[in-house]
Amino acid sequence: MPELPEVETVKRGLAPTMEGALLVRAELRRPDLRFPFPENFAAAVSGRRILALSRRAKYLMIDLEGGDVIVAHLGMSGSFRIEAGTQPVAPGGFHHPRGKDEKHDHVIFHLDGGSGQTRVIYNDPRRFGFMDLARRDTIAEHAFFRDLGEEPTGNALDAVYLAARFAGKSQPLKTALLDQRTIAGLGNIYVCEALWRSGLSPNRAAGTLVDKRGRPKRALFALVEAIRAVIADAIAAGGSSLRDHIQADGSLGYFQHAFSVYDREGEACRKPDCGGTVARIVQAGRSTFHCPRCQK
Ligand SMILES: [Zn+2]
Repeated sequence: MPELPEVETVKRGLAPTMEGALLVRAELRRPDLRFPFPENFAAAVSGRRILALSRRAKYLMIDLEGGDVIVAHLGMSGSFRIEAGTQPVAPGGFHHPRGKDEKHDHVIFHLDGGSGQTRVIYNDPRRFGFMDLARRDTIAEHAFFRDLGEEPTGNALDAVYLAARFAGKSQPLKTALLDQRTIAGLGNIYVCEALWRSGLSPNRAAGTLVDKRGRPKRALFALVEAIRAVIADAIAAGGSSLRDHIQADGSLGYFQHAFSVYDREGEACRKPDCGGTVARIVQAGRSTFHCPRCQK
């Protein structure tokens, strides 16, 4: 499943082609993805200029002239590729291989960027992705967005904010960090990575990072730093895979994240001098990978 860094990388990969271009025509190859397309979706977006691409949590947002916003979610297996002439370019790195079969090309945006025609193609074999239309002026109240917490890379996410959310909570730290109402788009993989990097146990109560007066303890500052760092590193790695891909021979440049702890059960902890072994536990139905020796 594409995580936040992949969606950010996809956005950055698509932006140079899409921003400022005219969306001449949206071609829908089927009536639905995970959900039906909004009525008149193709007609509403066709003929509009694309103003900007942005991301909120794991949603990609395409702002159009006139105030409509295409909100796209990649689901489990969604991906975009750009075709100009014969050379396809697929922005973004994915932990799992993306779909390649053209029979899963469900949406084609035909663009005119001023210097020629391009096609931005959405491919999704499992069809858990979706596209919706929203209005820019009311998007904060949209059902997708109204309950979302702060972005993991945004300035509003700091230790004071998390202290207010965690104070008095006996919920395990791992579970508290996965709550999208607190941090938006921080998925299972990056919660595991951030906890390992900050040396905090996924089992400890979230409230133990807050002092009696509601102020963040030192460990909570370290955790915020770790969250920012794991996301920034992954985005940087995704960006480099994108560059590699563009220079490559046309084969899809899948990108395997170098995770420190995620999916490494039974392997040695990567912290120098730790000597511990990565363990897997299940919390709230999700796998947690951690080092019981150095995460306290
Ligand atoms: Zn360790």
